[in-house]
Amino acid sequence: MTRYQERPWLGLYQQGKPSDITPEHTDALAMWRGGAGSDDAAHKPFLYYFDTSVTGADVDGDSDALAVALAARGLGRGDRIALFLQNVPQFVIGMLAAWKLGAIAVPVNPMLKERELRHVLADSGAKAVISLQDGWNAVGAAAAEGTAVTAAITTSPLDYLDQRPPSVLDGVSRVATPGADDLGELVRAHAGQRPDPVTLGPDAVALLTYTSGTTGDPKGAMNTHGNVVFNACTFRDWMSLTPGDVVLGSAPLFHITGLIAHVAVGMLVPMPVVLGYRFEPATIIRLAERYHCSFTVMAITAFTALANDPSVKQADLSSLTKAYSGGAPIAPSIVERFEREVGPYIHNVYGLTETTSPSHAVPFGRRAPVDAASGALSVGVPVFNTVVRILDDEGRELPPGEVGELATRGPMVVPGYWNRPDATERTLPGGELRTGDVGFMDADGWFYLVDRKKDMIVASGYKVWPREVEDALVRHPAVREAAVVGVPDSYRGETVWAYVSLRPGASATPEELIEFCRAELAAYKYPRHVEILPELPKTPTGKLLRRELRERSRGAR
Ligand code: AMP
Repeated sequence: MTRYQERPWLGLYQQGKPSDITPEHTDALAMWRGGAGSDDAAHKPFLYYFDTSVTGADVDGDSDALAVALAARGLGRGDRIALFLQNVPQFVIGMLAAWKLGAIAVPVNPMLKERELRHVLADSGAKAVISLQDGWNAVGAAAAEGTAVTAAITTSPLDYLDQRPPSVLDGVSRVATPGADDLGELVRAHAGQRPDPVTLGPDAVALLTYTSGTTGDPKGAMNTHGNVVFNACTFRDWMSLTPGDVVLGSAPLFHITGLIAHVAVGMLVPMPVVLGYRFEPATIIRLAERYHCSFTVMAITAFTALANDPSVKQADLSSLTKAYSGGAPIAPSIVERFEREVGPYIHNVYGLTETTSPSHAVPFGRRAPVDAASGALSVGVPVFNTVVRILDDEGRELPPGEVGELATRGPMVVPGYWNRPDATERTLPGGELRTGDVGFMDADGWFYLVDRKKDMIVASGYKVWPREVEDALVRHPAVREAAVVGVPDSYRGETVWAYVSLRPGASATPEELIEFCRAELAAYKYPRHVEILPELPKTPTGKLLRRELRERSRGAR
């Protein structure tokens, strides 16, 4: 059988790099201490937050102080600390503080609503939450009620800014957060103090990253310190990153891509990471130009938004040579148009939360081939030390050219899901990840995805799991059944459409159901279109015929 490892690097690693790498650090804290947190790098900027720079020494000192404050609140080894934050320096400081205690950071999408956040807090058993002030008042405080959270720490996005707030923060002001401590005050109170040293090692869990997968509520993938260090090294070596590079930190830090492709690799190399609170195209373009950013990974919809922003015409983004996109299928025409109109060639990169970001990538400086039959752009070749098999429905390995499920084994694959041995056994049998993605490997070893086995929708780069939206819909008293599909959308990539049937005698309007979901779900998830049908189409065994609904949506557009 032709597995990828038998064709090392397709001769792509002509720069003389080996196809295997051995990380030089045991854990992410050691990586920090050897990189951006080392004495050599201490006085260099590690984070740029809009126009303010924060040095490695600042991040180190503030995370030490925060770790001491957390320890005083009873936090220690193995405890979970939720980070309910946008792309602000406090995210990195909070994550490092967790690691300095031997604790586990739980990044949470700050757009989540109360019910969604409560699930993550309850499932992870988080004892502490570090949240933006607004998010705490709107959602966090109520979500934490009845969970194991005993320490709440809030922070303002205006902290760490020594200039006038940028327009992205218009309307943001410091507000009181009853029941929570202020991060800045804690850091000042414990300035100069250090937590007791901890030993971590590669098997310690660094992050719990929540992902819905195909079924059920979101599960916490356990990204170990070994996983994190390995894929930080993957990015560094695959993309030839050096301390002269600057990371455009435009992907959300609460998602695995931002965590690894921005923060972890920035710590390792070390190189500065530019943060701009949240993705706003004109701001990201200005920051990319101002700091001569050379490396980024973001969703293809984010690249499209940059290309369509009027300010891109005057901007010089020629420094951005190491441009990568992952997380959703990429149309070759978008890559071409971006190159023609903006300059950089977008390299494809593929992975999952469970592979701690990349398992495949297009080697830097190479162009992804396009499959003539399907028109799919290759997602690249498996990265270092990684073996990928294509399996049929019975789990048998298929030869090159044949379509099946990608199964991935490598040092970046998580050992399992938090407290979910059943899901671990199903998705990671014998430690090999069943990705749920369907594709093939060509005769040269390039991989292509042709379909998604899962019904996941990618709206504006964010993953939406139909099941979650359907759950929200059926919580409405008038709804009997609900089915949700992704519909192509020129701006958002895909958008969420729902079909529902109503209970006998009940009535509801599509607008009312959309409003109902809006209150229950993060903004990127609620359906933009609802149609009420007498019955949802099903197979004789009662399986929902989503394909039929997708076809119906085509007719309605
Ligand atoms: P997540 O766990 O949120 O990172 O989502 C992982 C899923 O995103 C994968 O299982 C794929 O379905 C999809 N995905 C990631 N990268 C790519 C890519 N480059 N092309 C197509 N789909 C991708």
